[in-house]
Amino acid sequence: MSLQLDEKGKLRHFLSIDGLSRELLIDILDTAESFATVPEQSVKKVPLLRGKTIVNLFFEASTRTRTTFELAAKRLSADVLNINIGASSTVKGETLLDTLRNLQAMHADMFVVRHQESGSAHFIARHVKPYVSIINAGDGRHAHPTQAMLDMFTIRRHKKEFGKLCVAIIGDILHSRVARSQINALNMLGTGEVRVITPKTLLPNGHHSLGVQVHHDLKTGLKGTDVIIMLRLQNERMSGAMLPSEAEYFRLYGLTEEKLCGAKSDAIVMHPGPINRGVEMDSQVADGPRSVILQQVSHGIAIRMAVMSMAMHQGTGEAKDWGGGPLSRGKRGSEA
Ligand code: ASP
Repeated sequence: MSLQLDEKGKLRHFLSIDGLSRELLIDILDTAESFATVPEQSVKKVPLLRGKTIVNLFFEASTRTRTTFELAAKRLSADVLNINIGASSTVKGETLLDTLRNLQAMHADMFVVRHQESGSAHFIARHVKPYVSIINAGDGRHAHPTQAMLDMFTIRRHKKEFGKLCVAIIGDILHSRVARSQINALNMLGTGEVRVITPKTLLPNGHHSLGVQVHHDLKTGLKGTDVIIMLRLQNERMSGAMLPSEAEYFRLYGLTEEKLCGAKSDAIVMHPGPINRGVEMDSQVADGPRSVILQQVSHGIAIRMAVMSMAMHQGTGEAKDWGGGPLSRGKRGSEA
């Protein structure tokens, strides 16, 4: 049985896109849609997770993911603990499992975990009590499933039908957990064509089984694309020199207005952040009219609310009833 699902096939942990059905992914997108209006309420909260305790456990740097998880938990009315790993007993040699067991003894209901080791979220999920949920906020180069889902949400809001789309993911595919999760999600949602555009040194070995078209030339790869997803060079995961220089990388793979002309005229440009301006893209594109990068950040809150509420309730129906949709907005909002 899948570690991520309960015996009824409902979400229990959210660890990777791999192993989840198309229906479940669509359910996450639809549930997020019902939460998207919560920030427009006078009280930006719904009482869905009132009385629950969520612990943010980030062993790696994060800006957007950590803060949007915190905000999402607060908008669901949960109590949130943010553990500062640099100031925790991890630096005194406490193991991951011991840290977890201690926090579990404080009756935490959910851990949102980011860790530099691939597989860490699965490892933790195997060791927690049956009522505790684990949400993967990025494990090594393996997976970043909530990032992929907020990206799918952003694409769906702009483009509607995945079957008719050509999506290009550009940059460091080899080390990117974001790319891996995006490719899984795009394929599971039936995307017309998924391309990766990358230098040969940044293409993973098993790329034949990924279900993508591979391009090494940016100009050819961008032709006819509807969605362009730029990635950051994951320097922290590179051992040895994999590229001649950042300037050379920008010359070949950096997105500029001029290169963007090869894509469809209504193509959108995305990036999970943080952006390195002048390395993977220039500022004109990052801040230009085709960029939906800041929308991705806002959508991250709705997606994280969806995933947390679904995992906690082990069902989506309940989440939708409480979720600030047209029926419950106002009444629930003022109650919260
Ligand atoms: N923020 C994303 C991640 O944590 C992308 C990146 O860091 O480049 O994987």
